[in-house]
Amino acid sequence: MKKQLLIIGIIILLVCVGFSGCFEKKTNDGKIDEETIVSQSKEICNESHYKMAFLLIENANNTATQNDIELINLLKTNASERFSWATKNLASLDTKDEVSVMSMEGNPSYQEIANNFYEKHEDTYDFLTIYVTYNDSNNMYHYLVKNQIQGIGLSIFNNSDSYGSKGKLIGINWMKDIDMDVEYYERFNHSIKLGVNAILHETSHQWGAYVDFIDENGQRSNSLRNPYNMAHWDKKLETGYDLLDGYSWRDNGNGTFTAKVTDFMQGYSQLDLYLMGLMSKDEVSPLKLINSTSDTKYMDVGTTISGSIRTISIQQIIDVAGNRTCICI
Ligand SMILES: [Zn+2]
Repeated sequence: MKKQLLIIGIIILLVCVGFSGCFEKKTNDGKIDEETIVSQSKEICNESHYKMAFLLIENANNTATQNDIELINLLKTNASERFSWATKNLASLDTKDEVSVMSMEGNPSYQEIANNFYEKHEDTYDFLTIYVTYNDSNNMYHYLVKNQIQGIGLSIFNNSDSYGSKGKLIGINWMKDIDMDVEYYERFNHSIKLGVNAILHETSHQWGAYVDFIDENGQRSNSLRNPYNMAHWDKKLETGYDLLDGYSWRDNGNGTFTAKVTDFMQGYSQLDLYLMGLMSKDEVSPLKLINSTSDTKYMDVGTTISGSIRTISIQQIIDVAGNRTCICI
């Protein structure tokens, strides 16, 4: 009898775990498959292996060239390597699949492109990165498709249906005209680094920069973020030249600070790694923000400003956003 009760108990527990989990995949007869149970029972908040598809949209007047495809191949290989480096090998980005060249007329939206893509591709990608062959008036942008992480300053939502994904897709990078990239690299002579920064910068908007903190006076403050573009870290925040901005500062020891020279090899700060779920809150050192009246709008590398260091703990961020945790949707 005891054994029967135990078995019934386990079944009830499994059902409860099942319904409180993120089950989306079922077998044809409606049962939840074993593979799903195993994968869903892992810490979904600490996802660290991402897969990205690269799309190149052409039209009749601007067909994709071999050069375009080769450049994207170079960018995607480098993006994968840099992502591992940027995350201190705590995460990976699989970009191995071939570039998908798609012919579409009339300036298709990212949503139309995604829906078109999923008509012929499996729902195995976390991110889609889209280039086009024609002049495009939009800015580079990251579209959040789904967020199930609480504690990073974003609401919880899942719009994957409207993009043709059954739930795997979390974000889309809009990278504009591939020819613009070629001209840009040649003009600034920074080879492929800037193109890789651009891909990873847009991808990073999946997690930031959206958090505020409680300041010394108990008030909510948004000073970690750039006042001219609130989804990026403020230049006065020491981030070691993070993929989501922020600068790296030299303390001159006389109440002034100089923005260091950068080699454009941007990575992730501890704060980003925390927001991405790759570092625990205990591993994040206090953040350093320069308290200064200097305006950051046109501030560039090499600038010297006067001010003082203000430290902010990860707990002050958690006091606004709450603990980092995942919500099943
Ligand atoms: Zn950005």
